[in-house]
Amino acid sequence: MIEVLPLLLNTFIIIITIFFYQIVCLDKDRSECANRWFLLLFSTVAMAMCIAFPIHFFAGHFFDLRYVPILVCFLYGGHRNLLLISIFYLAYRYSFGGEGFITSLIVYVIMLPIMFIFGPFRPDQPKSKRIAQGTGLTLLWALVAVAFSSFRTGQADLLFGWFMVSLITFTSFTMIMTVLFIEGIYEKKKLRKEVERAEKMYLVGELAASFAHEIRNPLTVVSGFLQLMGKNQIAEDAKHDYLRIMITELERAQAIISDYLAIAKPKNDSIQLIQLEPLLRQIIELMSPYALMNTVIIASSIEQNLQLKADASRFSQSLINIVKNGIEAMPDGGTLEIKAYRKQRKLLIEISDQGVGMTQAEIDRLGTPFYTTKEKGTGIGTMVALGIIGSMGGRTEVHSKKGAGTIFTIILPDQSVSYQNEQ
Ligand code: ADP
Ligand code: MG
Repeated sequence: MIEVLPLLLNTFIIIITIFFYQIVCLDKDRSECANRWFLLLFSTVAMAMCIAFPIHFFAGHFFDLRYVPILVCFLYGGHRNLLLISIFYLAYRYSFGGEGFITSLIVYVIMLPIMFIFGPFRPDQPKSKRIAQGTGLTLLWALVAVAFSSFRTGQADLLFGWFMVSLITFTSFTMIMTVLFIEGIYEKKKLRKEVERAEKMYLVGELAASFAHEIRNPLTVVSGFLQLMGKNQIAEDAKHDYLRIMITELERAQAIISDYLAIAKPKNDSIQLIQLEPLLRQIIELMSPYALMNTVIIASSIEQNLQLKADASRFSQSLINIVKNGIEAMPDGGTLEIKAYRKQRKLLIEISDQGVGMTQAEIDRLGTPFYTTKEKGTGIGTMVALGIIGSMGGRTEVHSKKGAGTIFTIILPDQSVSYQNEQ
């Protein structure tokens, strides 16, 4: 009878290699070429292990599932992979010794041209055809192997027939399972990509639509006033008012465009290890005139020697956006406080104001494009800020109470420790 344990071991070897292949290659966005090298590596290991732990059938007869990894390596990896795994296979089989080497070699020489004729899987090939092709090749290979084995040992009795049927059944079955398994993984990966793409397209569409809408408003206002001024005789006073409104509207359009460009800008491209303290001091200095205009005082308590990895200008932009919102939230003046400290291997930056505050529903809307409650707002600032912080591997927590004020807490990975080690 067939030993169950080695059979299970062979199947297990194949499943575990596919599993590793999935983790290393299919879940990551590696290049096609790198994937093929990994496929070769994993198939070779699986093939060698299958040969090392064969399934004993009866005296002198044993089989293993080596054809499965070899075929998978070829069908998914192409001709180059087949050539390389063939070399590994024959070399390994030779070093393994035993009288079967010549038989293995002959079987292989017969199978090689057949595999070349069938070719590897084509990208557009449906799953059913792949299963048929894979199983067909496995079946053929098993048949040729059994035929030669029978020829070599001169055995053709009932027991041998049972051996033949088992070998063919098990290898074909494992092959079908393997192809189904890999195809399932591919399908999931494709589906995930499609969903991501659809999401991106949706976001781009949404953004473009609202952008167009936001820009059109000021333009409509300006063109309306211009037409009005062209047609009628207008009092000097009214003219002044019209001009002021038009300039305000155009400035708004300009602000929207420049904020929008900040979103469109490619990802953090010049990331460096930066000192947080001087950066925050610079921002405070930069925002002081604006704070003064709104009778806001900026207070700060910033720990020294805090380090983080960031694109300084983009990170400043995100902090400025949050600080600016804090100042704007206090139309009657107040104190804006900036704190920075280290806590549990994280860097925390707290920006708190004593302003109008937000309800939970308003907090939830933060970061959605063009959400603004201000007359001249663009509704992009927070989105940009949160986006930049997110891309730095950080997150933002917002605590707010209507009428009392808001605390923005930015939590970032702390690089200060590694900096100290470097010194
Ligand atoms: P904008 O400042 O142009 O309105 P933002 O994206 O910067 O756009 O902010 C969106 C909205 O979030 C603001 O209009 C405001 O209602 C709310 N908001 C943001 N920060 C604060 C804050 N510190 N206090 C109160 N409300 C805030
Ligand atoms: Mg803002």
